[in-house]
Amino acid sequence: MPPLTFVAGNAGHTRAIGAEISRLLRPGDVVLLHGDLGAGKTTLTQGIAQGLGVREQIQSPTFTLVAEHEGQTATGESINLYHLDLYRLAGEEDLDSFGWEQYLAPVEGVSVVEWPERAGSWLPEEYLLVRLEPAGADLRRVSVEAAPPNGRMIELIADLRDAFAGVTTA
Ligand code: ADP
Ligand code: MG
Repeated sequence: MPPLTFVAGNAGHTRAIGAEISRLLRPGDVVLLHGDLGAGKTTLTQGIAQGLGVREQIQSPTFTLVAEHEGQTATGESINLYHLDLYRLAGEEDLDSFGWEQYLAPVEGVSVVEWPERAGSWLPEEYLLVRLEPAGADLRRVSVEAAPPNGRMIELIADLRDAFAGVTTA
């Protein structure tokens, strides 16, 4: 299945995509964000946080690898957002030191990971992969794909496609 691709015209649009994704997330889900510095990974995470009812401000967790935020589902249950940024990870051997494994299968929330490439091949079994690429000025190409290409994330993408039906996708 080809990735679902959007062109976001500004940061608010990228946040809206994040918020729409968040509505479909369940505890245990992992979202990996690919893209260079300034591509919009933290901006998209802000949208996910907003959609999960997180009140705290979302910034890149610069000095820590993980920031935990408490949010709420639409039905009022508590759900945590684990925002990871592995940019400053020294090496894969450091993944153990902050308990990377627990964020691969987060029991009480969802994990959103910037720079997952730093974790090498130590990735969750199932995840949603969002790629952000600058497409000139404030434009960003945002593509969403499922791994593996047959799990629950495929359904999530189908739902996301429906949520954006009528909105122009690229
Ligand atoms: P990253 O986490 O990938 O390094 P950030 O989200 O921190 O990137 O920064 C993206 C920057 O680009 C922000 O200053 C944001 O306001 C700006 N920006 C401009 N247009 C967009 C867009 N369409 N989507 C996301 N960010 C955008
Ligand atoms: Mg960032």
